[in-house]
Amino acid sequence: MEMVEAIQKAGVVGAGGAGFPTHVKLNAKAEYFIVNAAECEPLIETDKYLCRTYAERIVATVEKIAAHLEAAHAVIALKAKYVRETEALQNAVKALGANVEIFTMRTYYPAGDEQVLVNQVTGRVVPERGLPLNVGCVVENVGTVLNIADALEGKPVDEKFLSITGAVETPVMCHAPIGTPITEVLKKAKLLVNDYVVILGGPMMGKMQKTREEIENAVVTKTTGNLLVLPKNHYLVKRAAMSVERMARQAATACLQCRACTDLCPRHLLGHNVQPHMIMRTIWRQKSITDPAEFERAFGSAANCSSCGTCEMFSCPMGLSPRKMNDYAKGLLRERGIQPEKNQHPQASDMLEHRRIPTGRLIARLGLDEYVFHGLPELFEVEPEEVFIPLSQHIGKPAVPVVTAGDAVKKDDLIAGSAEGLSANIHTGFDGVVKEVTPKGIRISRREA
Ligand code: SF4
Ligand code: SF4
Repeated sequence: MEMVEAIQKAGVVGAGGAGFPTHVKLNAKAEYFIVNAAECEPLIETDKYLCRTYAERIVATVEKIAAHLEAAHAVIALKAKYVRETEALQNAVKALGANVEIFTMRTYYPAGDEQVLVNQVTGRVVPERGLPLNVGCVVENVGTVLNIADALEGKPVDEKFLSITGAVETPVMCHAPIGTPITEVLKKAKLLVNDYVVILGGPMMGKMQKTREEIENAVVTKTTGNLLVLPKNHYLVKRAAMSVERMARQAATACLQCRACTDLCPRHLLGHNVQPHMIMRTIWRQKSITDPAEFERAFGSAANCSSCGTCEMFSCPMGLSPRKMNDYAKGLLRERGIQPEKNQHPQASDMLEHRRIPTGRLIARLGLDEYVFHGLPELFEVEPEEVFIPLSQHIGKPAVPVVTAGDAVKKDDLIAGSAEGLSANIHTGFDGVVKEVTPKGIRISRREA
């Protein structure tokens, strides 16, 4: 079977980001195939675990994907400080005689940003709001590569590796069927706090589940790579509680216009028009700007922001929220139907290498030092009695259920087919009986099997 067809059938989507359907991304030819194993955000263990454990499978699959793309270069990029993982991959390359380069980077944030990675490996700059393919590159996360390896053997994506880190006695790795409640996964770690929040992902861009109800309703999806447990009185939790209105008032009253948010912005350093200090300067009077051209001049740069959070979590000396104001401005641009022009040929700044954000300093700034872990986490299998599998775990349209309540299903069965257009198939990770099918997802119980 053709590679793209096998990937589509297996429901593979980007495992490390927003879940872009992989069969669409790989339906291309490119000069570079780059594997993102940089584990961009602090306090995540999953990609490192995969590199150590499945090095040969990763390298072998990278060669196959590169051949499919007709790529002249196959590169696995990770941080140089991941010594064990680098060695494992280098040994795999040697053992297989593979034509795959292991590319090591400094430890900075956001090393795993797709556009930053492309620039690091190739020196090329992706256009504003463009794709790596615009400069001859395809980038996939290392977890996605392993899912492709499975897909080529006819196995769909219905299980997930994820780490539990933060306020736990020892970070652990878990392997769980898609749809497993995160409360079931959390039982595998010894939590050090009773009153806590859980961030799905990392501290910079992850989604915070603050209330008991949010935590109880959250499930493992194809894109969940980590559960970060933090005490409810942690600095990051308090920050996340602030309203947009209050942030806007703070921007108007406390912004020094020092430009640190702009000067250290990773996208600005790539030459993209991203100027959070300008948004902070003007956001208070957005309602009074009625001329679309003036509105675009004031807020158009927000459209190029990647929401990486560097500006508000690291750069701003006043603890303000330029990322949130950029997000707010993006919404205003959409409401007014304004699509700022894209620079197709940005030039990276000469200051790029000098303004990288060291991950260690970022961790200190976020108040996360006590959670840094240098060991090797143990792996636990999670076997829930019931799962709720969302129909939308990917960018594009939700999948369409092909089962109804009362149906018996077996592991790896298709339970929702991809909708027309951009979408992805969804499968069950265990045997059971379908309890309910809702517009949001499919509940399957093992008990009633
Ligand atoms: S870094 Fe903070 S204080 Fe300085 S311009 Fe940006 S938002 Fe204002
Ligand atoms: S979140 Fe801030 S630092 Fe990151 S791209 Fe947007 S403006 Fe730049």
